[in-house]
Amino acid sequence: MTNQGRRLDEWEMREQICEVGRRVWQREYIASNDGNISVRLDDDKVLCTPTLVSKGFMKPDDLALVTLDGKQVGGRLPMTSEVKVHLEMYRQRGDARAVVHVHPPHATAFAVARQPVPKCILPEIEVFLGEIPVVPYATPGTQEFADAVIPFMEHHNAFLLTNHGALTVGADPFECYYRMETVEQYCKILILAKQIGDWTQIDPNKVMDLLRIRQKLGHKDRRVLQDAELCSYGVPGEQCAAAREGADGDKAFIEEVVRRVVERLKTRS
Ligand SMILES: [Zn+2]
Repeated sequence: MTNQGRRLDEWEMREQICEVGRRVWQREYIASNDGNISVRLDDDKVLCTPTLVSKGFMKPDDLALVTLDGKQVGGRLPMTSEVKVHLEMYRQRGDARAVVHVHPPHATAFAVARQPVPKCILPEIEVFLGEIPVVPYATPGTQEFADAVIPFMEHHNAFLLTNHGALTVGADPFECYYRMETVEQYCKILILAKQIGDWTQIDPNKVMDLLRIRQKLGHKDRRVLQDAELCSYGVPGEQCAAAREGADGDKAFIEEVVRRVVERLKTRS
């Protein structure tokens, strides 16, 4: 289901938010009243889900109308307390028209274990989704939480939120939903693969082929901007440093790699 480039009217947008709410609830990406969804209506107005309502059972007129600076100007139910991160996304990215935030179990498992999502494993992920950064923890619902996502917004469409969940951005609620499905399925496959063996990565040169396809499809990817450096297997016998560096410079991991390399050099000398 896509809008095929057609601009939806406000009622259709309300219906799409409710439909996506039903799907994320049915797929168990959320429990109880968790999660939130929004759509940018115009330069200053955003429709968002209300707080303390199950996203699986919303009706179009349950939604809240909010200005870009966070004032609720419509709707009988109070807006989600997470609206700040949605509004920040719209302020930072002109192409952002919708945002979905939920807690899909497999993706959230990575966020809780504070494990960066490895890259260069499945072709479709590299072509259609790109890197999935892990945003540092901040208290949900605060401006600090919204601010924590800002440094990752420009180059990514899907984000894991440390000890919390996942967030996607797109042209409409369905694009966000599909991106969320992709993130969750990828994380599920990674966890299953780990149980029967280990992750194996695609050869870096082949990854660059995928990134070129990604670029041709009009998706930006900082790995192409920075050339092939990020996808070189820096440490022989170790997992690709670039892939493990999914948290945008996971300092602890880099230090660990350096420690192991130093150790290996010591044992050789
Ligand atoms: Zn949440």
